[in-house]
Amino acid sequence: MPSEAEKLAENTEPERMTNLFVVTGPSGVGKGTIIAKILERVPHIAKSVSATTRPMREGERRDVDYFFCTSDEFFKMKLRGEFLEWAKFTEHYYGTPKSWVEKSLSEGQDVILEIEVEGAKQIRQKYPQAVLIFISPPSYDELKSRLQSRATESPERILSRLEKAKEELNAKNLFDYEVINDNLDEAIGNLEHIVYAERARTTR
Ligand code: ADP
Ligand code: 5GP
Repeated sequence: MPSEAEKLAENTEPERMTNLFVVTGPSGVGKGTIIAKILERVPHIAKSVSATTRPMREGERRDVDYFFCTSDEFFKMKLRGEFLEWAKFTEHYYGTPKSWVEKSLSEGQDVILEIEVEGAKQIRQKYPQAVLIFISPPSYDELKSRLQSRATESPERILSRLEKAKEELNAKNLFDYEVINDNLDEAIGNLEHIVYAERARTTR
């Protein structure tokens, strides 16, 4: 294998170091909205598609938004060791398929995971070099009103997500960065800066 210096001397592209970005934070804080814009703006980055036992929402696309599966299928994948991390969130299971993430990183593409806090903690243990970003709401009341106006869950399920959010908000100091999603454009800009700053690092 030629060294980086030899590759430069031969005028060939040095291999790019790839990054695993984990975007976490309470349900309804705006993770999906922010990530969708990052994927439009930033080259060489892709979002992992998770498996879930949750029923499909109106407007969601199978195998694009999630791999929707039964509990039986989910646990078979888990037993075969196919998840990088997995967690139960309120009453459903969610997991990140390992093979796609590892393949993308090895092919020179950065990867973003959009996952809840327990899964993000597992990634911290397994991939200490991963970059973990916590998205915070400007206030608890604003989080509540975003979940209510998104209206993808019943009022009881919104309540259980809000209960879970109290625990999750206490965990933000475990992560590398906090981005407060008050003004959406600013939050997108801040995450974009984090991605470029991490890409510019000389050490991991
Ligand atoms: P998450 O992926 O974290 O569950 P979403 O991206 O689905 O959250 O956002 C939840 C709701 O809040 C959506 O209806 C979205 O349009 C809205 N939203 C996201 N960011 C903001 C913001 N900065 N200000 C107001 N509403 C927002
Ligand atoms: P939702 O049902 O709103 O799509 O997702 C509920 C929560 O599960 C969100 O916080 C979302 O980020 C998280 N989530 C989605 N996929 C995964 C995954 O693969 N692993 C983990 N741990 N959480 C996930």
